[in-house]
Amino acid sequence: MFAAKFEYYKVNSVAEALQTLRAHNGAKLMAGGHSLIPLLKLRLARPAALVDISGILDLQGISVDDTTVHIGPLTTHQTIAASEAVARVCPLMAEVAGEIGDPQVRNRGTIGGNVSHADPASDWPTALTALNAQFVIQGTGALHRRVTRTVAAADFFTGALSTSLGEHEILTEIQVPVMNTAQHSAYAKMAHPATFFSVVSAAVVISMSGNRCTQASVVLGGLAPKPVRAASVEEALIGQDLTADNIAAAAAQVSNDLAGEVMGDIYASAEYRRAVAPVEVKHAIYHAAGLAHS
Ligand SMILES: Cc1cc2nc3c(=O)[nH]c(=O)nc-3n(C[C@H](O)[C@H](O)[C@H](O)COP(=O)(O)OP(=O)(O)OC[C@H]3O[C@@H](n4cnc5c(N)ncnc54)[C@H](O)[C@@H]3O)c2cc1C
Repeated sequence: MFAAKFEYYKVNSVAEALQTLRAHNGAKLMAGGHSLIPLLKLRLARPAALVDISGILDLQGISVDDTTVHIGPLTTHQTIAASEAVARVCPLMAEVAGEIGDPQVRNRGTIGGNVSHADPASDWPTALTALNAQFVIQGTGALHRRVTRTVAAADFFTGALSTSLGEHEILTEIQVPVMNTAQHSAYAKMAHPATFFSVVSAAVVISMSGNRCTQASVVLGGLAPKPVRAASVEEALIGQDLTADNIAAAAAQVSNDLAGEVMGDIYASAEYRRAVAPVEVKHAIYHAAGLAHS
């Protein structure tokens, strides 16, 4: 099917993008078009105008300072997967980026489009929630002044295909804390075999003192409308030596964190996803703790 008729605007700056959004009610931003164009062709989205931001240089690239990885929303998954700086200071991001889709998807899809689209099966929402990332958002306030606000990942994702982004706002940066030497991380996913989208995934960041876990961030994706923090697993890990028995016991706690909606579809039922969740959590903790395959 062809998309319904729309106006097309290619913009070169955030200011121009905001102005164009304001001037066209119901306009949509387009980054790589990887999620948006299929929606247009299926006529599930019928925006009056498309604002193509792919040429805004300020929204591309990665920089790292002492505390933070700064990522432009137009940065592709492939750029993140190939970045030596990211691999050094935030290896979870490099791991996740490298597991997204196939080479075509990784070269075209952007981290900003991925999180703004907020598909429950996407990998970045899960990983960025576990990493306590912050999202920098620009919009327009009174007298058309530019307004910037920052939202924590835990508050950014509000449901399936739903975020806290307003209609006339643009995500302009993702900030991820640099990991310290006591922190270890891993991502485990049961991927859909055709698209590699997540059916059930787990992102784990743990701090260790010797073999003891001193801090834990465990987040699940793919199975609920938005990322689920596995607080019961985190609590069960902290203060424990990361032995195989203790990891298995902690991972089993995940059922306590899945009291909310668990989704089922033609590929995997809700019951199946609930059963796979502790397996992926255990898998990720094993890898993070360096016990995997030992
Ligand atoms: C075959 C296939 C397989 C895939 N496999 C995976 C996978 O395994 N894991 C995974 O995580 N993802 C996967 N994806 C998703 C893909 O990686 C893209 O990240 C995703 O489709 C978003 O595409 P895009 O970056 O081109 O954004 P677009 O399609 O251009 O935009 C998506 C949405 O975000 C909005 N938007 C874009 N940029 C901004 C911004 N800066 N500020 C505010 N709103 C913005 C747009 O208005 C639109 O609503 C797959 C996609 C395909 C087609």
